[in-house]
Amino acid sequence: MKLSDKNLETEVSEVFSSLQGEGPYLGVKQIFVRFGRCNMRCGYCDEIEKMKEESFSVYPLEKLIGEVDRLEAEKGPHHSVSLTGGEPLFYACFLGNFLPRLKEKGLSAYLETNGTLPRELAQVIKWCDVIAMDMKPASSAGDRAFLKEHEAFLKVAIQKELFVKVVITPDTLAREIGECVDLVAAVNPKIPFIFQPLSEPFGINGRSLALIEKELFAIASQKLLDVRVIPQMHKIWGVR
Ligand code: SF4
Repeated sequence: MKLSDKNLETEVSEVFSSLQGEGPYLGVKQIFVRFGRCNMRCGYCDEIEKMKEESFSVYPLEKLIGEVDRLEAEKGPHHSVSLTGGEPLFYACFLGNFLPRLKEKGLSAYLETNGTLPRELAQVIKWCDVIAMDMKPASSAGDRAFLKEHEAFLKVAIQKELFVKVVITPDTLAREIGECVDLVAAVNPKIPFIFQPLSEPFGINGRSLALIEKELFAIASQKLLDVRVIPQMHKIWGVR
């Protein structure tokens, strides 16, 4: 599938109204725009199926604006529009047209991102209200860590409200968390740093949670002022 105009069309797998299930905005009502592709392939990703080309559709700008309007009218008011994925910044050219339209409507933009595309963030940050940045240690990202990308990303993202989230799997290493913490602390030790234990179909992975409690929380708390553990709640609530 090819986009005929990267500025005025995008690839979307779903647009829906639901509750934010992760991080410090847990429980707020949002319109979710789930973008199609991602530049990464994390081992724990629960969106891999939706990232297959046959699972998403080409949305012209006006069609997507129309869907947002419809959801806001039928199910609003919403706290914000969550740009999620996949990786929304993979579609930065499109966001440069979409986000100003959200602003005209008085809607806030909540960007959920893997934190590896700093140049793309710089293109659109002026229209973002909250940046929910994941950090990806090599043990979850696959072949390598993305420390250089994360460092550059943090330096751009700090202009806006920002928090960082790291999904902890049983394979996460203390050294990897130390590296993430050092990057965040160098930018601002007040940036909220969220440990998200790996979710399983019927709850939380106990080994991930134990790792946070025994080792990782203390490492982060040595250098950061706002460290929290917030599990992913979608599966527990039984919502998307
Ligand atoms: S960055 Fe997010 S959407 Fe992309 S593969 Fe990783 S978990 Fe999935």
